[in-house]
Amino acid sequence: MSLWERLQALARIGAAPDGQGLVRWPFTPAEAEAVAQVRAWMEADGLRTRRDGAGNLFGRREGTDPAAAAVLVGSHLDTVRGGGSYDGALGVLGAMEAVAGLPALRRPVEVVAFTNEEGNRYPALLGSRALTGALLPDELDRRDPDGMPLREAMAAAGLDPAALAGCAAQPGRYAAYLELHIEQGPVLEASGTPAGIVERIAGLRMGTATLLGRADHAGTTPMDRRADALHAAAGALSAAYAAADGLGRPAVLTCGRLTLRPGSPNVVPAAVELTLDMRDAEVGRLDRLAEAAHAAFAAAAEAHGVKLRWEMRPGTPPTPMDPGLCDILEAAARDLGLPCLRMTSGAGHDAMAVARIMPAAMVFVPCRGGRSHTPDEYASPEACANGAALLREAVRRCAS
Ligand SMILES: [Zn+2]
Repeated sequence: MSLWERLQALARIGAAPDGQGLVRWPFTPAEAEAVAQVRAWMEADGLRTRRDGAGNLFGRREGTDPAAAAVLVGSHLDTVRGGGSYDGALGVLGAMEAVAGLPALRRPVEVVAFTNEEGNRYPALLGSRALTGALLPDELDRRDPDGMPLREAMAAAGLDPAALAGCAAQPGRYAAYLELHIEQGPVLEASGTPAGIVERIAGLRMGTATLLGRADHAGTTPMDRRADALHAAAGALSAAYAAADGLGRPAVLTCGRLTLRPGSPNVVPAAVELTLDMRDAEVGRLDRLAEAAHAAFAAAAEAHGVKLRWEMRPGTPPTPMDPGLCDILEAAARDLGLPCLRMTSGAGHDAMAVARIMPAAMVFVPCRGGRSHTPDEYASPEACANGAALLREAVRRCAS
């Protein structure tokens, strides 16, 4: 089966009940079916498979030097709700395609399909964090949106929750990690470039800002007598957006959810809670963005006589990819005649977790309109094949 045929076959597993895209959440029958299918393909390709305590699936090909550290290459099989057929899947199936065409090499090569990259059900990057020993202290007690703790979901899927902590890779087991992924953004397509080499993954700050004012009659309370939480939030958001615009790419700031109380058309809003998601490639710029947003909200709260509650989580710092691996990818692209662009990933990926314990780098290929996390997600057969070819050439160099 070709890479393209496998992508289309995998895309039939986990169709959303409403017919809109895929839902392959971790520790569900849909995910189990996808893992079983990929495992069967790995074995058909001659890879020796195993599943670890996190549910990560590995397919190993031996090297000529049995003591050499392996090259790890892969991505994830889970999807968001209403997700597309290429996010994650291309990285796993593309890795298998890359490995299948390799000559005998010194190092072993392992293809990996990580569990729960997306984080819609349980904290993101579960499988790759388990591999690197970066589990949360209360990981097994984390609950999904229906209230089911992770330990119960794992047990229901036939996995032993007690084995999760034992998934960390032995030091020296792996030499490098490579991940192929669709870009999930418009840069490559817009510039007509077939490949991206990810130099860093953007850092993230997120949390909530709550403005607490006072509910009053919308008709009888003059503007100058109100403590209108939304009026304050509107000004604060405008200033925060302006700060992100001022920093320029790749800084981004998103308010994706805004909740009003009491939420009545004829009542001045007493409280507004809104989420903020801020990202940038450099920690100094991310700090500046977060500070500017905080200052904007504090000033608006003061001006409108409302209280501000500012709750930002520690977030993740920007993660640089390994410069040596990026150079290998660039040289491989040159040999293949594939023009490439060095870039920042605004989205998080398994490579971010893996980079903690080994050199890691990523290849991006264009996707139509830059669209992802939607049923409209699409990467052409040519884009997928380019990615797999580049991965193969890079793995060959890393494993020689
Ligand atoms: Zn992904």
